[in-house]
Order: sequence, then C-alpha cells, then structure tokens
Amino acid sequence: MRLVLLGPPGSGKGTQATRLKEDLGIAHISTGDLLRAEVAAGTELGKQAKAVMDAGNLVSDEILLGMLEARLGQPDVAKGFILDGYPRNVAQANALDGLLAKISQPLDAVVQLDVATELLVERIAGRAAEQGRADDNPESVRQRLQVYNEQTAPVVDFYAGRGTLARVDGVGELDEVEGRITAALPKH
Ligand code: ADP
Repeated sequence: MRLVLLGPPGSGKGTQATRLKEDLGIAHISTGDLLRAEVAAGTELGKQAKAVMDAGNLVSDEILLGMLEARLGQPDVAKGFILDGYPRNVAQANALDGLLAKISQPLDAVVQLDVATELLVERIAGRAAEQGRADDNPESVRQRLQVYNEQTAPVVDFYAGRGTLARVDGVGELDEVEGRITAALPKH
C-alpha cells in the first residue's frame, strides 16, 4: 500500500500515520520528522530549515525533494509507505509523481483528513502545552494554517481531479478515525 495522507496542521495526520504504519506494516515517512531530525543533528540543511519552520513557512521544494528521494531509496519502502506532510504544494505533487514513476511505485490512495479550523487551533494549542514544538506558538500556527489554505488546499483539488482522493472526517476517537481511513483504502 502506497498512501498519501493529507490534512491541515493539527488534523492528526502524524498520529494516524503512526497507527497505520503498525497496522499495515508499511513505512511512515513524515517530512516534518525528517526535517526536525536534521535540525536536531545540527546539519547544514537543518540550520537552513529551522528558521523557516519556526516561522510556519514551507522549506524549499529543492531541499524536500532531495530528502524524499533519499528516503524513498531505503529498503523498508519496498513494503509500501504512508507519506505524511508531503506534498504540500502542487509543484511537490508533480515532483512526487516523477519520483514514484522513476521507481515504478505509483500511489494507491490519497486520503484527506477533514477537521474544522477552530478545532485545529484548539488541538495545536493542546499539543504545544505537551510537546513544546517551536512552531506551535500562536503566530506560527496562524501562518501554517494560511500556508495550508493557500498552497496545500490546491493539492487536494489536484488529486480530486484525478479521482484518487478519499475524504475522511478527522473528528472522533482515534480508533474511529483510523477505521474510516482503512475503509477508504483500495482492497488488495
Ligand atoms: P504540521 O502538519 O503540524 O504543520 P509537520 O511536522 O508536517 O507539522 O511540518 C512542520 C514544518 O516542517 C512545516 O511547517 C514546514 O516548515 C516543514 N515541512 C514539512 N513538510 C514540508 C514540505 N513537504 N514542504 C515544505 N516544508 C515542509
């Protein structure tokens, strides 16, 4: 199963991707986690990315593409993968098509997690209190939501236009939401 999980910040993509990874036995590729690992390791890439992430903006397409290509080359990806946090704009969606065509591993499904904006702000505030992520401050959250609406919402339309998109209600118990996602996946 090769799956893209789309949804605004705070929609629960990361949480659901972690569960699906276990239940489906496939790789979880979170571009946010990959970037945070670079920041934590103090690499040149991490240094470049940190300020951009803290402000709630998108790290360059070029950096993301290099990072993703390297990750897709790792052996665990052969079992399938859940992509969480990529693509975040239409240029990235086209780049992903190219990468996957090159390795002959096209997507099986794209699932959008729908959650109302008021609830997103509430959830992120809760996470900020728990985890203290540098980009979970109110100003950065506002910016991330705006970037989502301007740049990532068109990605939803991009996949909807192709007929590969399933929309799932992201509000409810974790098990319930996961059940909705798995029910939306094509049967093998
Ligand atoms: P959230 O979904 O809560 O915004 P993520 O962990 O997915 O959190 O992403 C955190 C930050 O990492 C983003 O705000 C952005 O700065 C950067 N990032 C992650 N994925 C991408 C991407 N595909 N393109 C550009 N920047 C990205």
